[in-house]
Amino acid sequence: MTAPRSPLPLLVIYTGGTLGMLETPQGLEPGGDIERRLYRALDGLPPTRRASLPSFEILAFPDPIDSSAATPRDWQRLAAEIAARYRDYAGIVVLHGTDTLAWTASSLAYQLQGLDRPVVVTGAMRPLEAEGSDALANVELALRFAATPALQEVAIAFAGRLLRGVRSRKWHTRVPLAFESPNYPPLGEWVGDDPVLYPGRGLERQQRGAPRFELPDYAPLARGGVARLVLWPGIDADQVAAWLAAPSLRGALLEIWGGGNLPQDPALLGALAEASGAGKLLAAISQCPVGDITLGHYAAGQGLAGAGVLAGDAMTPEAALTKLVHLLAQPLDDAERRRRFLTPLVGER
Ligand code: ASP
Repeated sequence: MTAPRSPLPLLVIYTGGTLGMLETPQGLEPGGDIERRLYRALDGLPPTRRASLPSFEILAFPDPIDSSAATPRDWQRLAAEIAARYRDYAGIVVLHGTDTLAWTASSLAYQLQGLDRPVVVTGAMRPLEAEGSDALANVELALRFAATPALQEVAIAFAGRLLRGVRSRKWHTRVPLAFESPNYPPLGEWVGDDPVLYPGRGLERQQRGAPRFELPDYAPLARGGVARLVLWPGIDADQVAAWLAAPSLRGALLEIWGGGNLPQDPALLGALAEASGAGKLLAAISQCPVGDITLGHYAAGQGLAGAGVLAGDAMTPEAALTKLVHLLAQPLDDAERRRRFLTPLVGER
């Protein structure tokens, strides 16, 4: 008789962030020795909860960062590590700084399309060793959800909730309940001592066949390839034109007013049309965090579609911008990029 196969362990990838930071004379800085520190913290859990944790291995990036320094190259590197290793693990946990955690989670979702197991991103508002830290609870939550095979997408585990990565945003600068998913309900929650996935909210039903990872080279876009332009009252067409004319710029996300409006200024629309005509990929979402946009509902938004601007529906800025980066990094023609931008790829719209 053959012995039963032991279940695969999880892989925990440490990239930096407050969770692993240590106090220094210059303020909090990413710290090392995460493996020992993590096990020591987990050993502080009540014995039954400690015993019910899945086993895991740790991959600590040698150069942990404050995530405010992350660029598309970091998203690419992380996706490549996961793609190279995921088959040997039941699920992946990514420990990440909270500042740009939602950007990384969104980018991972596009790069790891068709994922057949959990990738759970988490972090903390206070370091592991700080008094009253949220780090241990978030790590426990992430480990438990990462061992839940029905979860087959990139999700964020934070403050007792599991959110779709590509729908999430950092929402608060201080409190532990720091992430929200403004236009999509939570995928799951911690109930009693267990992680519970809500039925019918995950991507698992769309995942057919083998994973279809797309791991294009983000490096050419990593510095200034895609811009985020948040409109303000009194914005001048020349300012927009100057941003869009940058030779390195290949796409831009515009954050416009309310349900899809911007000033009816021919010079502004002209600047947008010129950039589109030059082959730059432009998309628009609302500055309102909740709700979607319709271009042309008001006369004030009519000109956008004519200027070649794509409607981003109710996407978060993180989901829309990382999608532009992802599409622009691939060898696609303009029509196909536009089609894919308007199509939900990973539940982002
Ligand atoms: N600045 C930190 C980071 O994003 C904040 C955090 O992790 O909470 O790396």
